[in-house]
Amino acid sequence: MSTGLVSQDTIVALATSPGVNGAIAVIRLSGSQAITITNAVFNGKDLLNQHTHTIHFGTIRDGEEIIDEVLISLFKGPHSYTKEDVVEISTHNSKYIIERLIALLIKKGARAAQAGEFTLRAFLNGGMDLSQAEAVADLIASENKASHEIAMNQMRGGISNKLQEMREQLINFTALLELELDFGEEDVEFADRAQFEALVQELKMHIAKLIQSFAYGNAIKHGVPVAIIGKPNAGKSTLLNTLLDEERAIVSDIAGTTRDTIEESINLDGITFRFIDTAGLRETADTIEAIGVTKAKEKVRQAKVLLYLYDDKDSTADEVIAQVKELYYDGLIVILVRNKIDLQGGYHSNEMDTAITDVLFTNYSDSLVAISAKDSESVDRLKGVLLDKIRGMAVEDQQIITNTRHVEALEQALEALGQVEAGLGILLPGDLLAHHVRTALRHISSITGDIDVDRDILGTIFGKFCIGK
Ligand code: GDP
Repeated sequence: MSTGLVSQDTIVALATSPGVNGAIAVIRLSGSQAITITNAVFNGKDLLNQHTHTIHFGTIRDGEEIIDEVLISLFKGPHSYTKEDVVEISTHNSKYIIERLIALLIKKGARAAQAGEFTLRAFLNGGMDLSQAEAVADLIASENKASHEIAMNQMRGGISNKLQEMREQLINFTALLELELDFGEEDVEFADRAQFEALVQELKMHIAKLIQSFAYGNAIKHGVPVAIIGKPNAGKSTLLNTLLDEERAIVSDIAGTTRDTIEESINLDGITFRFIDTAGLRETADTIEAIGVTKAKEKVRQAKVLLYLYDDKDSTADEVIAQVKELYYDGLIVILVRNKIDLQGGYHSNEMDTAITDVLFTNYSDSLVAISAKDSESVDRLKGVLLDKIRGMAVEDQQIITNTRHVEALEQALEALGQVEAGLGILLPGDLLAHHVRTALRHISSITGDIDVDRDILGTIFGKFCIGK
C-alpha cells in the first residue's frame, strides 16, 4: 500500500461492515476536498458554509435521480479522527445505494481508500502515535472485557506516555554526552555517570516488566490456551463437556449467539480460555497412551495452562508425578485435578494428594483441585483457580503489551541498554556510549513511531486493518 506522507487527495470508503443487515451504513470521506465533493452531490444546505461538528439532512443526487435520503456529519480538520476535513454520510444500508454513492463520490474526485488508510492518516497527521493506531485495530477485534480494556488503555496513550517519559530521559542524557564530544580533547564530563547508571537500571527494569506482561497480554488477546491431559477414563471429555455446557447454558440466553462461536472456549469473568486440540478429546478419549507422550508434549507446548486430570482409583502418585514432570516446561501453569470425588465420598485431601504435592508443589505446580466432572462438583473452584492463575500474571497497574512488534522492539531496547550499562562499567568513552543509547532510543521510538518508521512496516501495520478504518 502507499504510505505517502500527508497526501492531499480525498479518500472514501464504507466505514460500517459491508453486507450486514443493519439499518444504516456510514460512508466516510477524508481530505481537503471531502466537503466540496460531498456538497457537489448533496441537496440540502450548502455544506461549505456550515460549522464543524454539525449534522445535516438532505438527499444525494446523481443528476436528477435521488439515490438516498441521508444525514451528513461534518468534521473540519484538525478536529477530526484523521485531522483532515472528514464527512460521514449516513445512508440506508443497501448494497446498491452504497455502491452507487461511493462510485458517485469517486466520479466527483474522491479516491477509494486502502485498508487502514484513515487511521494511517490519523497517525501521519499526529492525531495518534503508532501504538495508539495499532490499538484501534485491537479494539475493533476485541471480543472480551479484558482485551477491550487493554486495547482501550493503549489507544488512550497508556503505553505511549511511559515510553515518552523514558525517551525524554534518554534524549536528555545523550544531549549531555554529545556536548562532551563537542569539547573534544578537553577532559570534561557533563553527564553524571552514576546518575546515568541509575537511570539505565530503572529503564531496564521497567522494560523487562513490559516484556513480561506480554505473556499475559498475548493470552488475553488470543484467549488462554489450555490443554487437558490425563490417563484414559480420567474424565477429560466429561470435564470439557461440563465446562462448555455450563458456559453454553449462560451464553445461549444471549440472542444471536450460536453454538459454533463458543465451542471449545469459555469466558470466565472477561477472560477467554481456549481448550486446544480437543477434536479427539470429545469423541475418542485423548489419552497420553492413545496419542503418545511426544504428541501430548507437543500439545502442552501450545498451552499456557495444563489441567492434569487423574482418578486416584486408577493412578498412583508416582505415575502422576512422572507424567507431570515429563510434560512440564518452564512457565507452564499446571493445575492438578483429582476427578471423581463423588465416588470417594466428597472432597477430602488424601494420602495420594500429599504424596503428589510433596514432590510437585513449588517447582511444578501449586494447585490441586478435587472435583467431580460428572456431577459438576467443585468445578467452580477449578474455574476460580484458573482465573486466579491468569490474573496473577498481571501486575497491578502495569501497562500490558499485546503486540509482537512492540515486544520485539522492547527486547532490542533492553539489549542496547545492557550495552550501555556494561559500557558505563568499563568507562567506555562518551561517543561509544552515545551510540548504544541511540540504538536503545531508536527501538523505543519505533513503538510509538516517533522516528521515521520504515514504510514497509507502516504498510504491514495498516494493511491489517479493514478498508474504511
Ligand atoms: P477420558 O477418557 O479421560 O476422556 O474420560 P471420560 O470423560 O470419557 O470418562 C470416562 C468415564 O468416567 C465415563 O464413564 C465417565 O462417565 C466417567 N466419569 C468422568 N468423570 C466422572 C466423575 O466425576 N465421577 C464419576 N463417577 N464418573 C466420572
